[in-house]
Amino acid sequence: MFIKPEIIESLLNQKAPLRQEIEEIINKSLNLERLSTKDVATLLRVTRASDIARIWEAAGQVKELIYGKRVVIFAPLYISNLCKNNCAYCAFRTDNRGVTRKALTQDEIAAETLALLKTGQKRILLVSGEAYPQDGLDYVLDAIKTIYSMSDRNNHIRRINVNIAPLEQKDFKRLLGADIGTYQLFQETYHPETYTKLHTKGPKSDYLYRLTCMDRAFRAGFQDIGIGVLFGLYDYRFEVLALMQHIEHLEATYGLGPHTLSVPRLEPADGSSIAEKPPFPIDDTMFKTIIAILRLAVPYTGIILSTRETAAMRQDALNLGVSQISAGSKTSPGGYSDPSATEQFSLGDTRTLDDVIADIGEKGHIPSFCTGCYRLGRTGIDFMDQAKPGDIKAKCLPNALFTFEEYLQDYASPATKAMGRVLIDRSMSDIPSANKDKTQKALSKIRDGKRDIYV
Ligand code: SAM
Ligand code: SF4
Repeated sequence: MFIKPEIIESLLNQKAPLRQEIEEIINKSLNLERLSTKDVATLLRVTRASDIARIWEAAGQVKELIYGKRVVIFAPLYISNLCKNNCAYCAFRTDNRGVTRKALTQDEIAAETLALLKTGQKRILLVSGEAYPQDGLDYVLDAIKTIYSMSDRNNHIRRINVNIAPLEQKDFKRLLGADIGTYQLFQETYHPETYTKLHTKGPKSDYLYRLTCMDRAFRAGFQDIGIGVLFGLYDYRFEVLALMQHIEHLEATYGLGPHTLSVPRLEPADGSSIAEKPPFPIDDTMFKTIIAILRLAVPYTGIILSTRETAAMRQDALNLGVSQISAGSKTSPGGYSDPSATEQFSLGDTRTLDDVIADIGEKGHIPSFCTGCYRLGRTGIDFMDQAKPGDIKAKCLPNALFTFEEYLQDYASPATKAMGRVLIDRSMSDIPSANKDKTQKALSKIRDGKRDIYV
């Protein structure tokens, strides 16, 4: 097994680092190098407030160096809450009799997609419990087709990422054929004993099967995968180092690490005592430090933060390295059409997409619905070849401006539109002079009704 608890424990049982050691590690990140597990352990042993402040500051700098001011926006679409697993923290667990079970029909999936399109969304994360109304993967593949087939005026979903239970290699090949973006799966906890205690029934009770999921995905040909930890189940320092060991294993074996990391934090969930009172609670300061350390650890990997977190936390996290957020989300199947359905967990940020965009835009972040990289085949190693030296920003900024302008034209409230105009004008000064003219022309075309321009 590539997770080595004994190495993690020994790395954590060392003394707090001196400022000079911290600076040496930060310099590696500022040079956009991935940190080693040992470097990350050193950062996790930091205790002085001034050192933590330095880590936060450097993480913000690394985020800007790679991505500039753009923030990618998406929404989850839950297609089913049927589940044969019994994850102690989740409202959809099989033993929870309090939840109304529902797998959306294709018509209902179409209605949910349309509801999302009408708010301006263009990127969807398809999510499901681990049980389907018919042969598992066929149901998911049909759902993907349905989502891609929908449109609202000129707007359609341009990229579907997927967060569903682990698959066999042959099924990953079929999923890949459905033209999806990133396949995501979180280990929840990398700590074997804790994992076994919390996952008592169903296929998910097999720790190793879940741990080796991304190996099967890579062998099937996937290039973009996302991993993560559910923070609050076990000691965060162990989890972060195990995540690093996972990344090192993937890079060493397949020449490629994850495209994204997700940092869900345990939220209250219907009837779950462990979700109500996490065994290893993570306070807000600690959570921000985790995000900042991960940003320094993998400068070129996207970090995703969901609406589990409050508006204030999400704002802070954007300055510490988060590069993608969900917005206007519902975590129940059918929730966009029927807001009374039971959610998988409580949300910290229930604002509409327009409100989120207005808020982050006012603070200088550029909301982006860009799918340019996937559409131009800039995925996997190709993407990393541009991201690692910090070149991807040259594509991210214009693509963010194009998709933001589309949003302003088609869906924004008058106040957001006014704010957006100023933000786009101001952001033009960050476009290199050689590309200014081309970018202005593309923006004019969008204002004249052209859609889906990307570079
Ligand atoms: N059922 C699949 C699985 O478990 O991998 C995929 C979808 S599951 C709905 C997505 C994620 O929700 C899980 O991986 C878990 O990390 C997260 N989750 C479950 N309960 C949660 C809670 N109470 N608070 C925050 N996140 C939770
Ligand atoms: Fe099912 Fe996923 Fe919830 Fe576990 S986390 S109960 S597998 S939906």
